[in-house]
Amino acid sequence: MQVWKFGGTSVGKPERMHSIRELLNNDPNRKIVVLSALSGSTNALIAIGEAAKSYDDTKAAALIEELKNHYDLFIKELYSTPEGLAAGQQIVDSEFGFIKSVVSVKPFTIKQEKELVAEGEILSTKMFQAYLEEKGESSVLLPALDFMRIDADGEPELATIEEKLVTILNQYTDKQTIVTQGFICRNPREEVDNLKRGGSDYTASLIGGAIRADEIQIWTDIDGMHNNDPRIVKRTFPIRELTFEEAAELAYFGAKILHPSTITPAKLRGVPVRLKNTMQPEAPGTLIATQTSDRDIKAIAAKDNITAIYIHSTRMLNAYGFLRRVFEIFEKYKTPVDMITTSEVSVSVTIDNSENLEQISAELREFADLEEHDRDQNIICIVGNFSADKEGIALKVLDAMKNIPIRMISYGASEHNLSLLIHSKYKAEALNVLNERLFFYEDAMKDIFTAP
Ligand code: ADP
Ligand code: ASP
Ligand code: MG
Repeated sequence: MQVWKFGGTSVGKPERMHSIRELLNNDPNRKIVVLSALSGSTNALIAIGEAAKSYDDTKAAALIEELKNHYDLFIKELYSTPEGLAAGQQIVDSEFGFIKSVVSVKPFTIKQEKELVAEGEILSTKMFQAYLEEKGESSVLLPALDFMRIDADGEPELATIEEKLVTILNQYTDKQTIVTQGFICRNPREEVDNLKRGGSDYTASLIGGAIRADEIQIWTDIDGMHNNDPRIVKRTFPIRELTFEEAAELAYFGAKILHPSTITPAKLRGVPVRLKNTMQPEAPGTLIATQTSDRDIKAIAAKDNITAIYIHSTRMLNAYGFLRRVFEIFEKYKTPVDMITTSEVSVSVTIDNSENLEQISAELREFADLEEHDRDQNIICIVGNFSADKEGIALKVLDAMKNIPIRMISYGASEHNLSLLIHSKYKAEALNVLNERLFFYEDAMKDIFTAP
């Protein structure tokens, strides 16, 4: 069995849903199909929630109306029979009835907000599965809220997910296509919750890991993981193969094509992940698996909204126990640390969740001096195969960065990652100069030396 996930753009137009059906039919494997919301819908639902939160009922109603019109038109092109359209209209009317009722709850809290935002995936999956039914195809809709669970820290409960999913799937061994929602889940209070923005990738990988799928395919709007951010850098190209470790670093450090946690469950069970382009299905895409290929530097990614914290020990020399005290505070506030650099008496760290920064700073000041935090920083992460005996990689990176101020450098923690901290105003420049130096320099040199 395989798990195929289609993102927002891939389901965002009726003709795209038609193409998905063709893609599914052209492949004989049984599949669990994970869908995102239609592109733009999650943002639209969040905007409706914002209006509801600020008691702006008129605005909320207008936004709901606008979104419903979009779905009313969508289903007219999705279905081709009066019965199909009637089924689609029933889904849209009933889900928008629910949306209106949730938005009318006062006060509109985080609980309602999560129920509202979940409607994007509920609509897309119900509509798509009804379309498969219209075409007489063997399929069933599996509500993700019946098996996808997170704990009090927002982390997926792997054992529960596996147990529930395996039990449910046993009832559907005769179905060729099992459709479910990405992104949404239940929390320990049994409320509707989600896996954070872009979370449908994570759903696919959690399912793939739980059922030990043969393969997880993430279908999106680009032909695989590129060597650099195509939204910022001009000359990028798809990478054919990545190891789990390399892909995990890239996703964590900002390659938007994958939710940051996607790789973990797949890696745990050794399930290969293939990134494919819905608009260009013949393109090979990227295969993420255990093997390594020999190119040293594979790709670059950038993580935004980073804060750097500079901590000096007031006890100065031989301050053992200092790091433990520092990290206990980050642990207490459930704030992951991304980069760390140390000197004899100082330690600098970066975080991307600055929600508890004030409390963290106050507690650090009890035994350390803090310099002013640098906000609006960016981690530039270079990923590849950097085993200890590979020469020259750091030199190439620093050479490319010679005109850009670097705040921190992290190298050697793993064989796959070299990270640099810079101010975000240099992000585009850094990605571009690194791209030219690391991926096109040899070509440029070759041209120079072979020129007549
Ligand atoms: P989906 O809606 O299918 O989940 P996303 O928009 O979340 O799609 O992810 C795909 C987008 O990720 C691409 O269109 C591309 O602009 C962006 N992206 C950022 N970095 C990379 C990268 N290194 N390789 C490929 N795509 C990337
Ligand atoms: N619909 C959700 C979002 O826009 C989840 C996803 O698309 O992966 O963030
Ligand atoms: Mg995405």
